[in-house]
Amino acid sequence: MENRVAGMSVLVVDDEQDIRDGSERILSRMGCQVLTAAQGEEALQILTEETVSIVLLDMKMPGMDGIEVLTRIREINEEILVIVITGYATVETAIEAMKQGAYDFISKPFEPDQLRIVVNRALEKLRLTREAESLEEERRRTLSDLDTEKSRTRTIIESLPNALVVTNAHGRVVLTNPAFRQLFDLSTDRGPGDQIEDYIPDKGLCNLVMEISQGKHIDYDDIPACEFTLPNEKYLLARGQPVVGERNECLGAVVNLVDITAMKALDQLKSDFVAKVSHELRSPLSTIHQQLAFVLSDMVGQASESDQHIISRAKEKTEGLISLIGDLLDLSRIEEGIVSREPKPVKLEEVLKGVVDFLGAKAKGRNQSLVLQLPTNPLPSLTADPLALESIFGNLITNAINYTRNGGKIRVKADLAGVNIRVEVADNGFGIEAKYLDQIFERFYRVKNEKTRYITGTGLGLTIVKGLIDSLGGFIEVESTPGKGSIFTVLLPVKRPEATG
Ligand code: ADP
Repeated sequence: MENRVAGMSVLVVDDEQDIRDGSERILSRMGCQVLTAAQGEEALQILTEETVSIVLLDMKMPGMDGIEVLTRIREINEEILVIVITGYATVETAIEAMKQGAYDFISKPFEPDQLRIVVNRALEKLRLTREAESLEEERRRTLSDLDTEKSRTRTIIESLPNALVVTNAHGRVVLTNPAFRQLFDLSTDRGPGDQIEDYIPDKGLCNLVMEISQGKHIDYDDIPACEFTLPNEKYLLARGQPVVGERNECLGAVVNLVDITAMKALDQLKSDFVAKVSHELRSPLSTIHQQLAFVLSDMVGQASESDQHIISRAKEKTEGLISLIGDLLDLSRIEEGIVSREPKPVKLEEVLKGVVDFLGAKAKGRNQSLVLQLPTNPLPSLTADPLALESIFGNLITNAINYTRNGGKIRVKADLAGVNIRVEVADNGFGIEAKYLDQIFERFYRVKNEKTRYITGTGLGLTIVKGLIDSLGGFIEVESTPGKGSIFTVLLPVKRPEATG
């Protein structure tokens, strides 16, 4: 009750003092704020100054008559509920008043309970009206919020510089943005509705979109991506994500396409630059190296020990630089895809024998045993560039020698494993901690610890190895136990898969 009447004020208009006083008492007890007026004019004056919700209006008063007061009240504020007080069963007046817009009536004389009932009814009506109004307001606000949200999202999608396409679970396009339409030269009025392949000419991308749309990536955290080229030489990177419904079902895919042409050009520029600089540095460095070797051999027995030491350090450093430049040039060639452009049939046994022979001296110098195990049946020929194979196994065996203590053991074993030739290069050297195993194939990455600190290297060897193996359609993996040794296993397909050719 308290809440319902809180803030509700009732104006009692009656020329009879007793009625005014009695009503005021009853209504105040109900929690209403009560104002009183003895005449119509006075009541109208109050209404212009105060906010009143309900008026109890006597129809028969001296001065302005009740019906007129009622009409004027309605003119001031239609929402005020007027309950007319009619004298001694004058039903006609009540009917007339109701016609003029009165909400209810009560006949004189009335009991307190009758007044309470009629005022309570009016209060209830006011409460319901207010509630309906606030519900309506809320609904209007929610609708307008939704509308604003929708329009905001639409604007964001429309103004994105990246191309965006959304598909449903069947791979049918449901939304594209202007950047997408521009990228694929679609007319501005080309709407959604068709299958993804009708918009995008790249098969790889279409497969990716279909896979995502059908929910194949739903349980994985990774964002599936693919790179592709458009006929106009544009490079694009596509990243997609599934749209997941309430029951974890896939509703479709959102694919975001970024133009990476500039990045590719920059990468190419950087590779060209490195290749050019390396090329230019190679011959003067080789000359310096030769001259140092010459000076050093001339100095034998003549120069002081410290001078000889300085020159031999300089010679070592130039050797290191020459090897770095060699690696950089190899890497540029691999990136250009030049290495395996002219493959021919190669007997891997011969290549391995050559490399093991060549590096045998180095291993011997460190008291290490370097053993090559070949199968009794000859291995099938590989179609590859022999220099690439030499470089792969030369690097792996050199590493095995370098990262194994003096007197250690290195074993190179080749055999046939299904459709692949498998070569294992195993050592009982320092080993590699598991956390570094992925990184050792990255450019310039070298594991730094007490054991490896004094071993010189460029950190490019395994990058070259991996690049070459990739270009041959092969695979490399490493198992290692710190303190016990490492096994690098290379798998090379006897028949090259076409895609990698
Ligand atoms: P580099 O030998 O010039 O440092 P690599 O790319 O060939 O560069 O090798 C990267 C790193 O991997 C090496 O620095 C070394 O820490 C680690 N590594 C490679 N081969 C072995 C091995 N057989 N045993 C232990 N560590 C190795």
